[in-house]
Amino acid sequence: MGKSTLVNRFAGRRDAIVQEMPGVTRDRSTHQATWLGRSFTVIDTGGWTPGWAPDRTTMDELVSAQAEQATTEADLVLFVLDASVGVTAEDEAVAKWLRRSGIPVLLVANKGDTLKPNDRMAVEAELYGLGLGDPYTLSALHGEGSGDLLDVVVKRLRAVGAFDRPQDDDDGIPGIALIGRPNVGKSSLFNRLVGEERVIVDNVPGTTRDPVDTLLEVEADDGTHRVYRMIDTAGLRKKKSKVDTTEYYSTVRTRKTLDRSSVALLLLDAGETIGEQEQKLAREIIDSGRAVLLVQNKWDLVDDERRAQLAKERDRLLAFLDFAPMRRISATSGRGVGKLFGDIDHVLECWNRRVPTGQLNAWLKDAVATTPPPLGQNHRPVRIRYVTQVAVGPPRFKLFTNQRLEASYLRYLERKLRESFDFTGTPLRLGVTIRT
Ligand code: GDP
Repeated sequence: MGKSTLVNRFAGRRDAIVQEMPGVTRDRSTHQATWLGRSFTVIDTGGWTPGWAPDRTTMDELVSAQAEQATTEADLVLFVLDASVGVTAEDEAVAKWLRRSGIPVLLVANKGDTLKPNDRMAVEAELYGLGLGDPYTLSALHGEGSGDLLDVVVKRLRAVGAFDRPQDDDDGIPGIALIGRPNVGKSSLFNRLVGEERVIVDNVPGTTRDPVDTLLEVEADDGTHRVYRMIDTAGLRKKKSKVDTTEYYSTVRTRKTLDRSSVALLLLDAGETIGEQEQKLAREIIDSGRAVLLVQNKWDLVDDERRAQLAKERDRLLAFLDFAPMRRISATSGRGVGKLFGDIDHVLECWNRRVPTGQLNAWLKDAVATTPPPLGQNHRPVRIRYVTQVAVGPPRFKLFTNQRLEASYLRYLERKLRESFDFTGTPLRLGVTIRT
């Protein structure tokens, strides 16, 4: 139903890189796609139509063979329908299966361009009826909406935690990213750390794989030694001329750095007003799912008046980052720098915290008793049956409900989670699976 057209559409975008990968079978093709610095794999399954496996005849068999594969491999399923024919019985069977499976689904209605406005509304109503959330209507043929669709895909992939896993963490050394606008003091802080801590030389096998990183060995307060990987420090060691400072490249670079780290240190220049750039970087960090520490640098320049002003700016402009601990430092004098690693260890511990299911459900009962969820569709009560933690780094929770939960209620639950358990400096992910 236009899926190949859709994949080609992704490929045709000037700024989306899609390339064929080896091992293409008749039924499935795999493509590597990159959108705004985020890489993901697109598997085109070739659809549910009987042609692909003539020995399978019943609907269940048709659905399960392909869908089971999708369950084990995919972080997100794009369920593509042909809007010009509307919702078929086959689509309904697939939707039912997908709803039960709990796989995150994005419903995409293709060929939206062929519909008259009235028909379009009728089809959209049918699509809502599938119970897979808001449908996304586009026309693959004309390219309408495909860039927006990629935005939605990346957003949904983030929401389900697909980018949460650091890409290079198999040696167990936590990666630390220094994030902040130019001149905030990233190089100064890095040089200060290199001056004070022991740098592990790169050429020992199995220590660093990537020469752009630097390994630091730090003695903790309890006398133990710990190793941290400072990510993407090549440019910070020796300042290069500013080449790729365009918005696009700096965003891509920030994301790539975050992808490889566990903790982000968001540096603020205490002498400067907190601006849009800091807000944007803070959002990037939360979206990336990394643990985060707010570092106010150049504290040596701050007087009482500025100090009060800064606290106000922070409360107003970075309120959404209020779960991050804050540290005041001076990278040039070294004041406060030594305390950073204690904070890093703390947020890492919270980032990796796993709450046992029993405790979590006792907590849920309390939270719901204190403030029950607002009534749902047709004034039916919303029941949250069960909650379980499905991942750490960052902690990810899944709620099983009978219908959708409002975003405001999810925010309430997140606040409650933070009150009950120590999740300092870590973003939290709350997902909902609807079982009717
Ligand atoms: P980067 O672009 O984020 O790497 O920033 P740099 O480390 O190059 O610092 C930019 C400027 O800020 C340099 O002139 C530093 O000397 C200065 N700077 C960095 N940290 C501090 C600090 O803690 N206090 C003061 N007064 N200046 C600082």
